[in-house]
Amino acid sequence: MAKEERARELAGLKCHAVWSCGGGVDSTAIALMIIQGKLSKPDLAFMTDVGWERRSTWDYVTGVLRPKLDAVGVQLQVIKTSDYAGNSLVDRRGFTVIPAYARRDGKVIKYSTRCSGPWKLAVAKRWLREQGVTRCENWIGIAADESRRAKGSGQQWFEHRYPLIEAGMTREDCLFAVGQAGWPMPPRTSCVMCPHQTNNEWDRMAILEPKEFARACAIEQELQRTQPGTYLHQSCRPLRERARPFQIACDDGEGGPIECNPFGQCGEGSCETAVATW
Ligand code: SF4
Repeated sequence: MAKEERARELAGLKCHAVWSCGGGVDSTAIALMIIQGKLSKPDLAFMTDVGWERRSTWDYVTGVLRPKLDAVGVQLQVIKTSDYAGNSLVDRRGFTVIPAYARRDGKVIKYSTRCSGPWKLAVAKRWLREQGVTRCENWIGIAADESRRAKGSGQQWFEHRYPLIEAGMTREDCLFAVGQAGWPMPPRTSCVMCPHQTNNEWDRMAILEPKEFARACAIEQELQRTQPGTYLHQSCRPLRERARPFQIACDDGEGGPIECNPFGQCGEGSCETAVATW
């Protein structure tokens, strides 16, 4: 359907149902609800590409979510942040927008999270306006046991709706539903350099997704060019140092090293647990 025709059709509707897909477990559960007829089909479905996501997220979206939604007539559209706004880690006033860490007076401080608003929400709203949407209920995937994260939008034309909370579906219920449907499990979604990541998440990335980890390290170094003393990890130590403790090897029993990681995936079952202590 031509873009103008679609815009005209949408403009004729009173309130549009739009779905902000995040590409993770909660959003996959919403996709299932749509496909299984437990939730009506949205007028528009979209996902914002901020430009910093992990490769695994897009692999899942293009390999699993999109084809399955396509099959029931729901087109999941990808909106690029760079088409509507910048995705810089530092704003025009020179402040870091991601929740990174720094030392002040000997104490570690964490910057506020000011990235998702301009990178995702503002972009989604501009895109929706472009599609002719003047009022909508915006579906967001937050599980019932995370309902404290659910907030109103503060804008009448753009109301938030939380289908998983309405259905009482917890995170565990979402995982169960995805497994029961026989779909592969969605990977964890976040920007590759997100400072909200836990030690375990950084360590898993260092071991299991070394290219992504190297990208995060490079982003940190780039950030430090304009924001010296700013770090992605709460220890305020360079992220690249976190990979070092894993550069050990188990003994294969014959005096030679075998590839090792602390998640026991060498297949030998004798890996030492060697995690960074910071
Ligand atoms: S995942 Fe982290 S860095 Fe990316 S938008 Fe969200 S809070 Fe910001």
